[in-house]
Amino acid sequence: MLVNATAMLQKAEAGHYGVGAFNENNLEWAHAILTAAEEAQSPLIMQCSMGAGKYQTGYKTVSAMVHAMVEALNITVPVALHLDHGSYDACLECIDAGFTSVMYDGSQEADFETNLANTKKLVKIAHNKGVSLECEVGSIGGTEDGITGMGECADPKECKIIADCGIDFLACGIGNIHGLYPADWKGLQFDVLANIKKEVGDLPLVLHGGTGIPADQVKKAISMGVSKVNVNTDLQVVFAEATRGYVEAGKDKAEKGFDPRKELKPGAEAITAKTKELMEEFGSTGKGWN
Ligand SMILES: [Zn+2]
Repeated sequence: MLVNATAMLQKAEAGHYGVGAFNENNLEWAHAILTAAEEAQSPLIMQCSMGAGKYQTGYKTVSAMVHAMVEALNITVPVALHLDHGSYDACLECIDAGFTSVMYDGSQEADFETNLANTKKLVKIAHNKGVSLECEVGSIGGTEDGITGMGECADPKECKIIADCGIDFLACGIGNIHGLYPADWKGLQFDVLANIKKEVGDLPLVLHGGTGIPADQVKKAISMGVSKVNVNTDLQVVFAEATRGYVEAGKDKAEKGFDPRKELKPGAEAITAKTKELMEEFGSTGKGWN
């Protein structure tokens, strides 16, 4: 059975460790990530972006697959299925489809007032169904058209206003960005993180763009109140590397090597290994409870 992410993140906040939120893209990814969580005995947030949802023919497909897989694999650690960077409508769709957690990315809205109004509505709708809600203040930087921003920082006062709506965890920019980091990146802004934490108290914070932030900075952020660390690019990189290795070694041309179940196996194993490594880094290994 899936759970929402509220209790696991409150435990992480109190225990000063982080829970990884790993993006799935298809059956192999979901299977590989669940395998890692069970082997590491770590709580898990499996997340699906709007694009990945569309790719997999819709949120109902993803939800049915993950629910069935948790049962079929006898997963004993707590698992939440979470929508990553959802629009208001996507949140409603995922709540209906059986997701146990959603992120409403209000930074896509025209202004803070719209973000606030939608956040208030979603708190009621999500909590009525036992679903946890992540909201975002400001926006997380990233690479667009080859230009990478240095990473925006959220306004601590706006964080406080959104936190007071009763949301379960908060995404806020502290200099982090999506995708790979540029060589001249200035690092996480810990003074901003400290100011936000002062405003929102024990509300768990979320670090987006986890790939490429040096481990010591991630660990410091976790020690200062970050409880959920989003990982997407990391898994894409190791999957691509392992798959390329299989093809470059000519294994797809060996006997039955073109069987997709064989061809995708090294990539899936690489995802499991990387996920376990990151769970160790975030401190969630052995923190699955039941
Ligand atoms: Zn993000």
